[in-house]
Amino acid sequence: MTSGSSGSALFTKPWKGIIDCYRTYLPVNDNTPIITLHEGNTPLVFAPHITKLCNIPGLSVYLKVEGANPTGSFKDRGMTVAVSKAIEEKSKAIICASTGNTSASAAAYAARARANGYKMDCFVLVPKGYVALGKLSQAMIYGAKVIQIKGNFDEALSLVKEIVSKYPVTLVNSLNPFRIEGQKTGAFEICEQLGKVPDVLAIPVGNAGNITAYWKGFCEYAKNDRPIMIGFEASGAAPIVQNKIIEKPETVATAIRIGNPASWKQAVNAAKESNGFIDTVTDEEILNAYKIIHQEEGIACEPASAASVAGLLKSAKAKKISPESTIVCILTGNGLKDPDTAINQGKSEGLEANPDLKEIITILDF
Ligand SMILES: *Cc1c(COP(=O)(O)O)cnc(C)c1O
Repeated sequence: MTSGSSGSALFTKPWKGIIDCYRTYLPVNDNTPIITLHEGNTPLVFAPHITKLCNIPGLSVYLKVEGANPTGSFKDRGMTVAVSKAIEEKSKAIICASTGNTSASAAAYAARARANGYKMDCFVLVPKGYVALGKLSQAMIYGAKVIQIKGNFDEALSLVKEIVSKYPVTLVNSLNPFRIEGQKTGAFEICEQLGKVPDVLAIPVGNAGNITAYWKGFCEYAKNDRPIMIGFEASGAAPIVQNKIIEKPETVATAIRIGNPASWKQAVNAAKESNGFIDTVTDEEILNAYKIIHQEEGIACEPASAASVAGLLKSAKAKKISPESTIVCILTGNGLKDPDTAINQGKSEGLEANPDLKEIITILDF
C-alpha cells in the first residue's frame, strides 16, 4: 500500500473508482468487467466544532463524507465490486433487502451494467413505511423492481436469502463477501488522506457489514498500527449491545433499524481485536448530532450517519477517548436522502407570511 505521500494513486491520477485505484487489494482479474460510477475518493473534512465539543486536549475530529458517493452512500463502494463479480459469474439479475441505500446503489449499478451492454435486472425488498423518501425514489427511477413488504428489514432479508437459494439471482446484501471487499477501501482512503492511520474510527452499526469492512481494510493497510474501532447502534435497535435479537427494532435512523445483523460476530470481533467497543446512542442523541453536523459544520448527512458523531460525543463525555487522538467519524449517507427528518429538525418549519415587508421584518426579528 502506498502511504500518505504525494505519490499516492488517490491524488495523482484521474479518479476512476475504487477498483481502478485499489485493484491489487480486490478480488478482480482481467476477466472481470468493471462496472463503476467512479465511487470513492470522498472528502475527509476536519470538524472544528465537534473537536471543541469533545473537550479533550489535543483531539482532532474528521468526518468522512460518504454521502458524496454516486448514489449518496458508502454502499456504492461495495456495489461496484459485487455487481462486477456478478457479471463475471454470468449472473443476469441481482436482489437485495434494504433499509434504502443498498437498494438505491444496487439499482444504479444494475443500470450501469446495462449501459455496458449486459443484461442485468434488479429486485428490491424494502420495509413499507420505513424507507426515507430519497432512497425509495432512487431505487424506483434507476429502474429496479421495488417491492415494499409489510414487515421489517430482517424479515425482508430472510425472504431474499430464501429466494437466492432457489432462483438464479445474485444476493447483493453485505452477506455477499464482495460487498465487504469494496467497502474496505474507505479505510485505505482515510489513511492516505490523513497521511497516517487514525487513532479512533467511529461508525454507525446496522447490519454490521461496514464496521467489518473497515476493520478488514485497516488490518490489510497496516498490521501494527490500527485504530480503535467504536461502533454505535441506535438504542431501539441494539441487538449487539443487548446481546439478543430485537424482534421489533425502532429508531428515527431507519438505515440502522435492524434487529438481527448479518455480520454480528465480525462486528464484535472488530471491537474486541481493536480494543474498542460497541455502544448505543438514543434517537435524541442522534438527532442532536444530526443538527450539529449540519448547522455547526456545514456538512450534510442522514440521521443514521449522525450515530457516529453522537457516539463520539457520548464517549468523550464519559472520558473513553484518549487525549491527542485523531478521530474519524464515518458519515455513511447523504443529507438529501431523508428530507422529512431534515424539515422536522430544521429551524423554519411552518414559518409563513404574506408578501408584506412589515410582517416579514417582525418574523425575522434581527
Ligand atoms: C447501510 C447503512 C448503515 C449501516 O451499515 P451496516 O453495514 O449495515 O452496518 C449506516 N448508515 C447508512 C446511511 C447506511 O446506508
